[in-house]
Amino acid sequence: MTDTHVSGLNPDDLTDRSVPMDEVARRLWWVQILMFVLFPIVYALIWQDNPLRLYNADAPTAYLPFEFPIPQLLLIGTILVGIIIHEGLHAFGFMLGGAKVRDIQFGIILEALAPYAHSRVPLRARSYAFAVLLPGLLTGLIPSLLALALGDVWLLWFGSFMFGAAVGDALILYLLTRESGNPLVLDHESQAGYYLVREGYTPAK
Ligand SMILES: [Zn+2]
Repeated sequence: MTDTHVSGLNPDDLTDRSVPMDEVARRLWWVQILMFVLFPIVYALIWQDNPLRLYNADAPTAYLPFEFPIPQLLLIGTILVGIIIHEGLHAFGFMLGGAKVRDIQFGIILEALAPYAHSRVPLRARSYAFAVLLPGLLTGLIPSLLALALGDVWLLWFGSFMFGAAVGDALILYLLTRESGNPLVLDHESQAGYYLVREGYTPAK
């Protein structure tokens, strides 16, 4: 529990509600694949088109009249930028919930190659849930739905990848639904989840 010193909170005031990252990968990989293929499958059904071709000339946004590999490379580049935006949106959400810039930490969990944004101060559960939800919503769900409406395959794969990348966030939202009221929670610094913070907690120093 040495890690909780970072937060300046007393470990006695914290109840761990997190799931180890490797367990998330081991148990939720099928959810992630489901999130990843859901919109491409719906696309294929709605548009009667093969989404793997990555180009739909019927889409009003058919802005990539290039051949392989340029759209693929652009897609990979955009996804990398999207991952940075994903973490930035978590940070933005933490700040809306009351965290200061200096309370936010960015990094990468090397074993899982998972980038993260972490708030070192506790937030109310609803604010925390909003911060957790924000990237999956703005970079995943909304672009995917927009892609389905427009028939834009490129946006479809971008949105689908970003939606699948939010599987850990979806797990945290699920864990949060089991809390009653609007308790204080502290984002876990290395695992998927958070600590429940005792009301009237004592700062460690
Ligand atoms: Zn996330």
